[in-house]
Parts: sequence; C-alpha cells; structure tokens
Amino acid sequence: MLEELKKDIYKYNMELPRNGLVYWTSGNVSGRDIITNLIVIKPSGVMYEDMQPKDMVVVDLEGNVVEGKLEPSSDTASHLYIYRNRPDVNGVVHTHSYYATAFAAVGKPIPACITAIAENFGKEIPVGAYAPIGGEEIGAEVVRSIGDSSAILMKSHGVFTIGSSPQSALKSAILVEGVAKTYWLALQVGRPTILSEEDVLEHRNWYKTSYGQKK
Ligand SMILES: [Zn+2]
Repeated sequence: MLEELKKDIYKYNMELPRNGLVYWTSGNVSGRDIITNLIVIKPSGVMYEDMQPKDMVVVDLEGNVVEGKLEPSSDTASHLYIYRNRPDVNGVVHTHSYYATAFAAVGKPIPACITAIAENFGKEIPVGAYAPIGGEEIGAEVVRSIGDSSAILMKSHGVFTIGSSPQSALKSAILVEGVAKTYWLALQVGRPTILSEEDVLEHRNWYKTSYGQKK
C-alpha cells in the first residue's frame, strides 16, 4: 500500500546522509498520506545503505503498524503527536545535524542574522525544552514551542522540521543546518548583526513573491 509515498519517504530519508545531516542510523523522515491519514516512516535502527522503499513502515495516527515487517522509528510517537495536532503538517524530519545540534546542546536559538534565515524561516529558529525520548513528549514540545516556524532546535537533542509536504520539511532540515553553520562561522570572526524586523519581513515577502521561476 501507499507505494508512491513509500518511495518518496525512502528517497527523502536517503537525502539525510547525502546532505551530511546524520550519522550511523540516527535521523528520520515521515510523511502523511492525505487521503487515508496514514503515516509512512523510516524503520528503527536500520543502516541507511541497507534500506529499501519496501522497508518503510505504514502506521496509523495511534501508532498501530498497518503495514511493514520492521519496527517503526523510535521517534514515531512524537511524529504522530505532531500529525494529530497540526493538520497543516504532512511531513516531519528529525536529525542530529552537527551545527544546528551544537546550538541545541547549549539551548541557544539561531537569530535572524542573515537573509537566508529571514527568507526561509521569517524569524529566529527557536529552541524547545528538553524532552525524554521514546514516547510522544518530544512531539508535544515541538507542537508547543515551534509556533509558525518550520524548524525547531530541541534542547540537548537535535532538530525537528515540519512542512506541508515531506519535501518541504526536508528542505527546512537542510537549510537549518546550512544557516547554523554560517552562524557558527560568523561567531568565530565577530558578532553577527541581527536583522531588523522590517528587513526580515521585507526579505520574507520578497522570497515568497519573487524568488524562483515564474509560473
Ligand atoms: Zn534524535
């Protein structure tokens, strides 16, 4: 079932190691099928290079495995909490990507100090409180603290991103790591300037209305 979504979720999971966002078996991507409200998610503890599309696990919003031979990701309950409480979200990505997780480790948000943050996130990337792994507590904290951001740094843990599609959540996960790296580098050579609210808004609006190919 959901063969196309399984192929997509497999492909997006494989983008995590390809973009240097994960090591060993950490990290996961999931996506919602908007017709059935079922979720496709990475299996738990399987090496990326050993995974295939058929290994993706289909679960319902309560966490029952609907299809799949493998156990779903250990973060499944948190993904499901997000899907149940954010009907606008159809994709969730979690990583421990190096630079962004460094800021999560010290509990510091990434301020809107470069235009890429203004364009893609519209404000600083927030930090959520520490939450224990395994249950839905991380998901509950993501929902409580992410606001209208597409990304959050979870204290002492890593990154969660959300999107209207799995692809947009993946894009945010890649961008968060990119801007975190730049912010880190900037801190080595000086004190990064925080953009004014007006400049952030102007860049955000420009990005939404003028960036990319005209239809
Ligand atoms: Zn994690």
